[in-house]
Amino acid sequence: MNPIEGLKGYVREIRELEAAAALAHWDQRTYMPPRGLEARAQVVGRLKRLAFERLVSPKLDQLLKEAEAGLDAGSELDRALVRHWRREHDRKRAIPPDLYQKFVETCSRAEAVWEQAKAKSDFAMFAPHLGEVVELVRKLAELLGYEEHPYDALLEEYEPGMRASRLKEVIEPLRAELVPLVQRLEEGSPPPARPAGPFPVPAQRALARKALELIGYDFSAGRLDDSVHPFTVGLGPGDVRVTNRYSEDDPFPGLFAALHEGGHALYDQGVPRELAWTGLDSGASFGVHESQSRLWENQIGRSLPFWQFFHHCLVEHLPAFRGTGPEEVWRMVCEVRPSPVRVEADEVTYNLHIALRFELELALIEGRLSVERLPERWNQAMESYLGIIPPDDARGVLQDVHWSGGMFGYFPSYMLGNLYAAQLMAAAEHAIPDLWDKVASGDMRPLLAWLREEVHAHGRIYPPEELMKRATGEGLTPRPFLDYLKRKYDWLFR
Ligand code: ZN
Ligand code: ZN
Repeated sequence: MNPIEGLKGYVREIRELEAAAALAHWDQRTYMPPRGLEARAQVVGRLKRLAFERLVSPKLDQLLKEAEAGLDAGSELDRALVRHWRREHDRKRAIPPDLYQKFVETCSRAEAVWEQAKAKSDFAMFAPHLGEVVELVRKLAELLGYEEHPYDALLEEYEPGMRASRLKEVIEPLRAELVPLVQRLEEGSPPPARPAGPFPVPAQRALARKALELIGYDFSAGRLDDSVHPFTVGLGPGDVRVTNRYSEDDPFPGLFAALHEGGHALYDQGVPRELAWTGLDSGASFGVHESQSRLWENQIGRSLPFWQFFHHCLVEHLPAFRGTGPEEVWRMVCEVRPSPVRVEADEVTYNLHIALRFELELALIEGRLSVERLPERWNQAMESYLGIIPPDDARGVLQDVHWSGGMFGYFPSYMLGNLYAAQLMAAAEHAIPDLWDKVASGDMRPLLAWLREEVHAHGRIYPPEELMKRATGEGLTPRPFLDYLKRKYDWLFR
């Protein structure tokens, strides 16, 4: 057999096992009865383990070697396939199984303690566990290897090719321009008052469905269900699912979460069939995936043209908005207000939350900062970036689950998503001169077609930096994002 075909057949098994685990996990988070948890956790764990064993097996190494030997004659897709699996195999193999097991166990304990510590707002209770996690993560970084900085070894998992030094170059100008912008916007006039709730959940669900249809989400290849935390999961070609949650007091979190998850789902639905089960059938990176969700959530969903069209849908489903106009609603959803909590942050303050986490992660990984001093440093940074001090650690250093789960290097993906989204949108505006007229008339097809061609069609073939260069002419840069915010908020507060 042709070595590439041999490799494809083998990795397909890995991907199918992962899909089965993902389906079992989707069910766990949507419809599974509560008492099914223990058995389900075992099933998901078993499937993931089977996939992992295949990933690190000598058999895959052998298949990769055979494929690598004949690669000169291969297509771009073949080269990407081999590069992807070589990297995955080598990274996971670099960690001794005992150490990996210890890491998984330490994190799952830390996560359980974190939940209690957050509920009691008691950092001291969490600190020793976080200390263990940080020590293990530092060890893993050494084993995974890096050229410049141990943090790079962690970033590689989420954003192939990204470096801490590159992130610093991007974060500096962001911080320098965002901090005064936030201060200036706080002095502006407040947004219009919102109609009073409650906003019935069934009506919000229908509105979310409407929003997903509008942006081009294919319901014949997907579903919308309820869950505690919204998420998107791809289960194979023809099956990319979205979940959402709704709050009776405020209809906007549910609507924007639907647009956000819808953006992720459009990406996965847009990956070509020929990439199915190859491992190249998902986003180029976490950051690029996040760019697709942010683009629909913020660049589109928080634009005036979107509301010029969508306002009638809002009123139709939630009649409490009858007395409002499109521009008023647009102003409501563009409110800027520093909050101590990242997940409540608006599009102006959001990246400052990430800048803070990046700085602290770097200091922890370098060993410059002890876990004990973390709350103090957190609060200092919050005050200097956003002018607020969290009322307690639950809404401060304890707010996110990521660190307890050992996910160091993940937070920058959120920021990269915001920056990439602005870069892509600027390029799309250039390529489609009547883009905003189309949006205002409810026609998202030209934009989606452009994203399909420039981003979705390539799946994971190109590393993020190369994908961005091909689509926008430039690698990562904060400029379009800063220009976008200034243009928008100068106009909003003119
Ligand atoms: Zn997302
Ligand atoms: Zn309508």
